[in-house]
Amino acid sequence: MEHGDFHCWMEISRKNLAHNVAVLRRLVYPRGDIMGVVKANVYGHGIDVASYLASLGLRKFGVASLEEALELRRASVRGDIYILGGFFPYEAEAIVKEGFIPVVSSLEELEALRKEGLKQEKSVRFHLKVDTGMGRMGCLPRDFDDGFFSAVFSPPLVLTGVMTHFASAENDPEYTEWQFRKFCAFLKRWSLFGKSLEYHCANSAAFLSFPHMRLTLNRIGIALFGVSPNGDTQVVHSLGLRPVTTIRARVKLLKVLPPGFRVGYGGTFITSRRTKVAVVTLGYAQGLFRAFSNNFEVLVRGKRAPLIGTVSMDQVMIDVSHIDEVRQGDVVTFLGKDGEEEIRVEELARRAGTIPHEIFCSFGKLKHRLFI
Ligand SMILES: *Cc1c(COP(=O)(O)O)cnc(C)c1O
Repeated sequence: MEHGDFHCWMEISRKNLAHNVAVLRRLVYPRGDIMGVVKANVYGHGIDVASYLASLGLRKFGVASLEEALELRRASVRGDIYILGGFFPYEAEAIVKEGFIPVVSSLEELEALRKEGLKQEKSVRFHLKVDTGMGRMGCLPRDFDDGFFSAVFSPPLVLTGVMTHFASAENDPEYTEWQFRKFCAFLKRWSLFGKSLEYHCANSAAFLSFPHMRLTLNRIGIALFGVSPNGDTQVVHSLGLRPVTTIRARVKLLKVLPPGFRVGYGGTFITSRRTKVAVVTLGYAQGLFRAFSNNFEVLVRGKRAPLIGTVSMDQVMIDVSHIDEVRQGDVVTFLGKDGEEEIRVEELARRAGTIPHEIFCSFGKLKHRLFI
């Protein structure tokens, strides 16, 4: 499909995605593997990206929920699908039936899985989650006891992995090391080391910054897209990870406004001179936060142009006074490259006071995606 008719769209570079997967796998191969974390519709990139990752040889995928796991199956993604976000007891039936690998945080969940396994006469693979300081899913180390572990090892349950999750891997090395030590102490305490289990703690941030936390399995989401989890692009550059995602829209109307003219809702921008304004076909309904109002630059004909005024639902205005050759229909780049210039998602995240993950999820609202 061509983008000729689209008002706004996302482009996904297969080549760069394949490159990133190769780079990331090489860092752990053959000792360990990468789990592609593909929750939230593959970080807003669409389920086809998961199929593509599978075609590149990824065999392990992490999702947030049973619903997302079923979506992957419907997209014919083969391999192990881990439900990282936990589940409700009533979902155990489908989990066991489909052979998904749930991450377990409580005895109740274990019991629900065991019952289902007995009922369906199937063994049930699962991973155990230890909460070493995230305060979200997982069981506190102190809440495990012999009773818990006798449940863990009750057939038809089959423990195939143990994990924890870091709260601040992108900005607090000390706390992350402390969590890692707690995880290791837990494994030791319950003699879980050295078994043929999958051990995993690293998300992208930990994986990139702390090589000793790369274990037999590593849960990688944002880094697949060549993106730094904390805005510091040095580590992604040094590894040679490449941006995958481009967001584009078009110039719909060009006009010249006199000095002192208000632009957009609320009149948050007033022209200080004769200003050539382009109305562009992307707004907050398509994922561009209102927080970017008067607070961002886009690329037109290889040059930067500032957003002016408030971001509307389906449109936004830019100042193109300095770009003579702009025409109606011109492509406007919100994320990615145009000529020599590039806008990275880390820059959008910084300007909006958020993280790249949220920017991607927001652009998940875009209807059109092109694999290039
Ligand atoms: C989302 C998620 C990840 C991946 O995080 P990234 O920062 O995108 O690499 C890893 N582990 C868990 C439990 C997650 O929920």
